[in-house]
Amino acid sequence: MLLHEQIGHLCDSLKLSSVAASWPSLAEQCIAQEKSYGEFLRALLESEQQQRDERTRQLFSRMAGFPAHKELSTFDFKFATGVPKQQIQELSALTFIERNENVVLLGPSGVGKTHLAIGLGLKAVQARKKTRFITAADLMLQLSTAKRQNKLKQYLSRSVMAPRLLIIDEIGYLPFGREEANLFFNVIAKRYEYGSIILTSNLSFGQWPSAFADDATLTAAMLDRLLHHSHVLQLSGDSYRLKDKQRSGAIPD
Ligand code: ADP
Ligand code: MG
Repeated sequence: MLLHEQIGHLCDSLKLSSVAASWPSLAEQCIAQEKSYGEFLRALLESEQQQRDERTRQLFSRMAGFPAHKELSTFDFKFATGVPKQQIQELSALTFIERNENVVLLGPSGVGKTHLAIGLGLKAVQARKKTRFITAADLMLQLSTAKRQNKLKQYLSRSVMAPRLLIIDEIGYLPFGREEANLFFNVIAKRYEYGSIILTSNLSFGQWPSAFADDATLTAAMLDRLLHHSHVLQLSGDSYRLKDKQRSGAIPD
């Protein structure tokens, strides 16, 4: 068998697909540049690692369930003067995830809450942190279904506890019933000091009981845990969705 065939088989059985593909050209390069065997091996292993990291990123990105691709780099801070740019930039370094801190984005519809939440989520995925995006309504539905099927424990460990970063979008659009509020409390309590949550809402904290079955006690206990280690960003400004309509005069300023 030829040398390159043997190497090919060994790479197959060891699952070193990048080594298999890149060793001939790397070997040539290293010979031309009079590199040592050690340097050749390092370059080879680096290419394998880079390929694996990229695969992980792609897998995490698919698993995250982002509803759209919204990067922080496409967020127009010139338009969104009510969005604290510096705070967002600090958060994009992702130290809040290392520290299991939460991020709460509050503000009216259209100011960019979901965009920023996805943008931070994409950063996390790029850094190979397992991320899960879900709307509060979908989370409720899945929690209720799991409970009905006696699978709440599995659901919580698989979907709520497994991600390093959990993004829950649109708290408050759909008010929850009592049992749903209890289930939601469970989610917050279980992740407390365990893993980061990014949460968005159009409601101020004072209005939150209205979304949680008017249970002021439960809401207070939940906010207590949610806000203990957290970054709260109050966004203000006009809806980005309406900006072009306003400009064209369809909607008065
Ligand atoms: P919210 O979640 O606060 O209701 P979204 O994040 O869904 O708002 O924003 C609505 C739409 O406008 C999305 O398509 C989003 O990408 C876009 N958008 C909002 N703010 C900005 C901004 N400052 N720069 C660029 N796009 C924005
Ligand atoms: Mg939104």
